[in-house]
Order: sequence, then C-alpha cells, then structure tokens
Amino acid sequence: MKLSTTGYAAYDPHKPLAPFAFERRELRPNDVAMEILYCGVCHSDLHTARNDWGGNSYPIVPGHEIIGRVISIGPRVSRYQVGDHVAVGCMVDSCLECDQCHKGEEQLCREGNTGTYSGLDRITKEPTHGGYSKHLVVREEFCLRVPDGLDLTKAAPLLCAGITTYSPLRTWDTGPGSRVGVIGLGGLGHMAVKLAVGLGADVTVMSRTKDKEADALALGADRLLGSSDPKAMAQAANGFDLIIDTVPVKHSLDPYLPLLDVDGTLVIVGQVGPMNELNTLPMLQGRRRVAASPIGGIRETQALLDFCAKKNILPDCEMIRMDQINEAFERMERADVRYRFVVDMASLAAPVA
Ligand code: NAP
Ligand code: ZN
Repeated sequence: MKLSTTGYAAYDPHKPLAPFAFERRELRPNDVAMEILYCGVCHSDLHTARNDWGGNSYPIVPGHEIIGRVISIGPRVSRYQVGDHVAVGCMVDSCLECDQCHKGEEQLCREGNTGTYSGLDRITKEPTHGGYSKHLVVREEFCLRVPDGLDLTKAAPLLCAGITTYSPLRTWDTGPGSRVGVIGLGGLGHMAVKLAVGLGADVTVMSRTKDKEADALALGADRLLGSSDPKAMAQAANGFDLIIDTVPVKHSLDPYLPLLDVDGTLVIVGQVGPMNELNTLPMLQGRRRVAASPIGGIRETQALLDFCAKKNILPDCEMIRMDQINEAFERMERADVRYRFVVDMASLAAPVA
C-alpha cells in the first residue's frame, strides 16, 4: 500500500511554494519508511524551485537535508529498526555496481545518482520528492544512522551543507597546518569553517563585506578577509593551500586565484553552470588548480555524522515552520540567514487518513 503524505511543493518557477498532497511509493523489501522530523533549507532547493538549472517538471517537493524516525521497514532491511533516528541527504539511489559506487562514491555513479528530489525512481520512473514533507520512503543503502548524542534539531544541514564541504576538505587532505579559505559565509560556508577548524586548519572567511567578522570568529575562523578590499586581498596573496568557493551565482575567480600558494586548489562547490571567463595566467604562474566537487558518498557522509557527534560540531540553525518557507527563500537570497533555516516538520499538518 502506498503511504499518503503531505508536503510543500513548487508548482511553477514564478509562484511561491504551496501545500501538496501526494503518495510515497509502496515499501519494497529493502526500503525504510520514515516520518520526517526536520529538513534543512539549501540554496539548491531555491535554485531548483525557480528552475535556475533548467529541465524541471513540476510539481517539485524540495528538501535534501533530512532527519527522520523509522516507522516501518521492508523484510530485507537489516541495518535499521522501527524507532531508529535516520538521515537522508541529496541522493536516494545509484546503480551500486560501477567502480565509483563500489568505492563508496555513489555521487559519482557512472549511471548518475538519483536525486532526492527532481529525480526519477530507478524502478517505477516516478518522480522523486524531497524532505519538505511528512514522510519519506528510501532504500536502506541511502539511509544514514544519526549517532547517539547528535542534536536532532540541528543535524539536518550536515546532510548537504556539511558533506559538500567535508568532502573537498578530506579530498585535499586538510589537517593541522593547512591554510583554508572559505568564500561566502552562508549555509555551506559556515559548515566549511566549522569542519576545517575541527580538522585543525587555519581558516579565513572571504566575505563581500566585514559585516560577518564577529560571526566568523565566533564560528572558529582565524580571520575574515573582505573580498571587496583590494589592499587586504593583495596582502593575502600566496597564503592558501585550499579555497572552497560557495558563491551561488556566476562570478569571476580573478580576485581569488592569486591568493593560492603554489600547487594550491580553488574548489567550486557553489555555482553550478557557467562561470566568468577563466584567466589561466595566475593558474600557470603558481601551478594553481581550479576544481569542483559534488556532495559526497554515503560512507563519507556517515563518517561526517560520526565526526560531528564526536567533536560536537553542529550547524547554526534558525528553526522555521513549513508555511514560512517562501519568506525563508527570500531571506536566503539576501544572505539574511545565520546560517541555515531548518523546517520543523511538526508544523505541517498530518495527512488525512
Ligand atoms: P547560501 O546559504 O545562500 O550562502 C551563499 C553565500 O554566498 C552567502 O551567504 C554570501 O556570503 C555569498 N553570496 C550570496 N550571493 C552572492 C553574490 N551575488 N555574489 C557573491 N557572493 C554571494 O547558500 P548555500 O546553501 O550555502 O549554497 C551555496 C551554493 O552551493 C548554491 O549555489 C547551491 O546550489 C550550491 N550547492 C552545491 C552543492 C554541491 O554538491 N556542490 C551542494 C549544495 C549546495 P557573504 O555574505 O559572506 O559574501
Ligand atoms: Zn543542498
């Protein structure tokens, strides 16, 4: 039997999100059904609702930073039991057979991973719907365990903002002695700061103004560099091993590439799509690299959750009701969020049985 549920959906790129009643797929033998407790609000939800990346078919239920409680399991589920606290991030499936899936890099699946929303179920071809809803059904391989002691009300943003910044920090071997820059202090940016600090790095926030300086220091950063101050930017030249760029729009890398030391890397996790024309001169002068990185694999996401529980690293969250989502989108667009909205799903009425 399909599970009737309710949520909030985008129906059109130009209209506000509105209530949506729909069904979750029938439980398969390896599926977990959960009640969603909390869902973070990612800038990707906003990009998708507005069709910034094209190719949408509406309605779309966004949300891929999901914390829930298991309410039923299929007969072949071995890792989870009813009542467990679980989490789901940006993917709900992949082929699980290619070399990348075997390495635990399901986000790089050769067949493409299945998005938590705006994807198509690999078996039924039904559209996938995300966490701005009361319930979710997902195969157990894409379900994560919330470690005991991790605050459920704050953990949701780890599932996207957390893993998307943790993965490049680990890929580029961040640790004590690493000099890390973070461009843009928003949802992803503030997690990059907390995680880089947790890994022992020296951390600099690169923000458009000095307005967030006190916040940056409170988050654990060593300093804030105003990216609109050419003198301060010039003084910071050659000072970084890794720069994580979280800016959500097309922009120029020219101000940032000279900040990398020889062999340093600027990794883009923010803008998806075209960037301003790239000037290779500062790249070849310092053998500097530009890279990009998508989310992270399931194994690495579990490692992140365990790392955060051990180190007591949690996002800074502002809890909202589901019916405040449109206002939250507008505020996120103005960078007026400190530093992640999280929807309390108890604020959404249960579906009529
Ligand atoms: P966010 O909370 O809105 O933060 C973005 C930050 O970038 C802002 O706080 C602001 O920081 C800066 N910024 C905003 N508008 C800007 C502009 N016009 N020019 C320059 N800087 C600007 O967004 P988020 O949730 O962190 O997401 C950031 C981006 O990452 C989005 O595009 C999202 O789609 C993408 N994303 C990618 C992945 C992936 O797998 N790679 C995963 C999740 C999200 P300051 O005020 O400090 O300058
Ligand atoms: Zn996201």
